[in-house]
Amino acid sequence: MKSKVYFVPLDSLIDQAAISHKIKYLVEESKVLDFIQKKDNIVLKLHFGEEGNTGFVRPEYVGVISGAAIVRGAGLFLSDTNTLYRGRRLNSADHLKLAYEHGFTREVTGADVVIPDDTQEDNIACVEINQKFIKSAKVARIFMEADGLIAVTHFKGHVLTGFGGVLKNIGMGCATRQGKLAQHCNAAPVVYSDKCIGCGECEIICPAKAIKLVNKKSVVDNTKCIGCASCLAVCPTMAMFIDFNAGSQVQNKMVEYSLAVLKEKKKKSGFINFAIKINKECDCWGMENPQIAPDVGILASNDPVSIDQASFDLVNRVCNKNIFKDVHPGQDATVQLQYAQSIGLGNTDYELIEL
Ligand code: SF4
Ligand code: SF4
Repeated sequence: MKSKVYFVPLDSLIDQAAISHKIKYLVEESKVLDFIQKKDNIVLKLHFGEEGNTGFVRPEYVGVISGAAIVRGAGLFLSDTNTLYRGRRLNSADHLKLAYEHGFTREVTGADVVIPDDTQEDNIACVEINQKFIKSAKVARIFMEADGLIAVTHFKGHVLTGFGGVLKNIGMGCATRQGKLAQHCNAAPVVYSDKCIGCGECEIICPAKAIKLVNKKSVVDNTKCIGCASCLAVCPTMAMFIDFNAGSQVQNKMVEYSLAVLKEKKKKSGFINFAIKINKECDCWGMENPQIAPDVGILASNDPVSIDQASFDLVNRVCNKNIFKDVHPGQDATVQLQYAQSIGLGNTDYELIEL
């Protein structure tokens, strides 16, 4: 049976108040939060944006969604995990500070931000899933202990997974440091020395300090590399390469992690994707990056696979091509969708209901 995906179209001319009104309408009409019961402890998973990036979902819009959950009687907090790379979200104190600087205050969203410190063993949950790539997933405990989960996701491109939607938001985004490393571990880049012109851009961008220029050629230290693929995106001569199979494996592992996060929440979760300001790269980039498609709209569903498939289809439709393949030719973003369906996470077949 097809899953329902609700959709409000938007264009870039619409103002913030009108968007907030449409979000409220979408949430009510789609009943996406109707799984919430009084006194449920709900975690709202989102990405607060790296410093210098403005692609993240605006706190005012998150406030509309959290308000709808709170009205249903839930206790609610906003959360994300710390990053692998050196940036403002590497540890909980700095991450929290950045979230506030980006406007995620209680006054705006009606909820507190909680960033678990996954260097503490007590904050790590090992979730047995016994899948092909991951047997036991290392997830931040806070996501497993909540009664329900709302994932609010900025839908955009991604250098390693083609696009980043809800499967990435929860699969990678709820994983602890160990879990993120497990997902990235096969994705260290190879450098074609004959193409490398020694410009040093990769060394500058590398968040793990895994690249050094030796004799004006880039050399990657695989023991430090976290497989983020940032170096690929900045290399002007395409001298860096991540094996396609490695990219696919990251997608598969990320999907298995999503399965772990939702293991006990299949009927206690709702997903909202913002297909606006659709950038080439994810919100972890500490800078603006180019918009690759016009604004499409906002989607809601209780099926994480359907909502990503519908977001992918709508963006491609407005571009008249597979824009994600265009900007990330090495990646087949449909791997994550097909694999997610094959392990029972959701349905790629959906009914789109435009509101
Ligand atoms: S993928 Fe590239 S940028 Fe990312 S950590 Fe590895 S070497 Fe550094
Ligand atoms: S960005 Fe590319 S060309 Fe420049 S040093 Fe790195 S690998 Fe070489």
